[in-house]
Amino acid sequence: MVVMDETSCMPAIAKFYLEFTCEESCGKCSPCRIGNKRLCELLEKITNGNGTMDDLNALRNLAAVIKDSALCGLGQTSPNPVLSTLDNFWDEYVEHVVDKKCRAGVCKKLMQYVIDPEKCIGCGKCAKNCPAETISRTDYTAPGHKLASMVIEQSKCVKCGACYQNCKFGAISIK
Ligand code: SF4
Ligand code: SF4
Ligand code: SF4
Repeated sequence: MVVMDETSCMPAIAKFYLEFTCEESCGKCSPCRIGNKRLCELLEKITNGNGTMDDLNALRNLAAVIKDSALCGLGQTSPNPVLSTLDNFWDEYVEHVVDKKCRAGVCKKLMQYVIDPEKCIGCGKCAKNCPAETISRTDYTAPGHKLASMVIEQSKCVKCGACYQNCKFGAISIK
């Protein structure tokens, strides 16, 4: 039995177990040798934020074919992590492909660092430490007063986390 909590990402867990099978496969039969590689590629795509609903269907269909047609127990059981996570954590898969969100905060490419303008004092330390130079100053109007705040241009962010680590005011969160 493996116990996991909300910090475990189910598509990433399925990928982890499949990578093990790909390493261990002897290569004698193609469902295991090739099919598991294709499953891994689909999971890679999904955890990188490039997956689609069609990929989820392909994942389920291919996993079922491998389970039915692989020669030995290794290949026949290898798709179980995919099938059981699809059955029990379908919402998490959908979030990855539709909302481009990883609720466990594991899939780096789906993470977003966000600055709360209410908490940011505009000290600029995050921008100074950002290797991608993607943080800039902006004006933020709160009820009754105007504040300086920083903002992150998400398309340029390389998710290094330096801003998050350097903000002493708790103004940056991971979404
Ligand atoms: S299912 Fe068994 S026989 Fe087929 S490639 Fe995998 S390990 Fe080899
Ligand atoms: S380090 Fe924090 S408080 Fe300072 S500018 Fe950046 S987000 Fe704002
Ligand atoms: S995570 Fe890294 S690249 Fe992205 S805004 Fe923060 S410091 Fe810049």
